[in-house]
Amino acid sequence: MKNFYILLTVLFISFGSLAQKTYLHCGKLVDVKNEKVLSQKTIIVSGTKIEAIENGYLTAKNEQDTTIDLKDKTVLPGLIDMHVHLEGETSPDNYLKPFTLNEADVALNAVGYAYKTLMAGFTTVRDLGGSGVNVALRNAVNNGKITGPRIFTAEKALGTTGGHADPTNGRKRNLMDDPGPKEGVVNGTDDAKKAVRQRYKNGADWIKITATGGVLSVAKNSKNPQFTEEEIKAIVTTAQDYDMQVAAHAHGDDGMQRAIRAGVKTIEHGTLMSNETMELMKQHDAYLVPTISAGKYVAEKAKVDGYYPAIIVPKALEIGSQIQDMFRRAYKKGVSIAFGTDAGVFPHGDNGKEFGYMVEAGMPAIEALQSATITSAKLLGQESNLGQLQPGYLADIIAVKDDPTQNIKTMENVVFVMKEGIVEKD
Ligand SMILES: [Zn+2]
Repeated sequence: MKNFYILLTVLFISFGSLAQKTYLHCGKLVDVKNEKVLSQKTIIVSGTKIEAIENGYLTAKNEQDTTIDLKDKTVLPGLIDMHVHLEGETSPDNYLKPFTLNEADVALNAVGYAYKTLMAGFTTVRDLGGSGVNVALRNAVNNGKITGPRIFTAEKALGTTGGHADPTNGRKRNLMDDPGPKEGVVNGTDDAKKAVRQRYKNGADWIKITATGGVLSVAKNSKNPQFTEEEIKAIVTTAQDYDMQVAAHAHGDDGMQRAIRAGVKTIEHGTLMSNETMELMKQHDAYLVPTISAGKYVAEKAKVDGYYPAIIVPKALEIGSQIQDMFRRAYKKGVSIAFGTDAGVFPHGDNGKEFGYMVEAGMPAIEALQSATITSAKLLGQESNLGQLQPGYLADIIAVKDDPTQNIKTMENVVFVMKEGIVEKD
């Protein structure tokens, strides 16, 4: 009997070592944590994880192992975009779509957007608001039914009546209805708690609120506060009961301050953030998710006649053009910054342009890369799985042609993508 067990153990160990491995020969490798670009490394991937990183180009040990030649490339951890909307994409007829698209249409479109996002090197995203299709999308990716990034989703964003996330803004009266917490519209602290619990029930990972007016909603004001501080506090404490954190869309300073004091974790956009609010961000350990890409895109499209409804044009021109400058000030002030683009407001797959905008506004390239890797991984509670190339981490690995610390624009052209050990783009 004893011999039998020994035999079993020997068989087990030999099968273990025979498991297929992938050897990635990396010409350069960005160690984001230590802010170093390393040369001539081999990453050994076993199953879904990184098993080892060795000096030089190692030869595969077994016949069934595969070797991938990235000797003339720079290799990085899979990227994380903390602000996307995978259910939709900008177009001049966007405001008609609630009346013309069925849920199935939205879902099928979203599959394509998710694919484009992954091909751009973003192996993880936080979806900050859609209709609920984003939950099904996350599940389909997790179950291997479709190819896309790993998704953390807020399901439907929360707003107040007539606020940025009220889904029936701008409609004729008999189509307005009176959406409530079930639909993500909140008035008062009881509604606020119910809306959070409903999101939990619907499968959300995060809670998103629209703390101030916004640019692309059919409403006049882009910056007024739209929740009371008590309502936001009720949202944050309820979310924490369910192990969720809160992201707050905010352009205006007053609404931003209420959100930070109430305990939200991330401020999205942050356009009109004052110096005082930047200090408040630091005190409360809140993170800015800048979305410069979205600002630039809406400011440009607002100049195209008929692209947006008339009520949106002045808002897009005013707000859009100020985000990059706010980012410049926030970075100098030492505000913590996580990478986020608002993809969907501009075409999916262009997420990598954000790196160039961040560097243009004074952030060193390595810090821009950190914002899209270790910083975002930490915010998602994934700091020991994602955001670094280290043994034991998930094998989310991408490659670009140039060294991004020398040429940040190379991040717009990701040529190799591996997610959890599977090559998705080569
Ligand atoms: Zn957004």
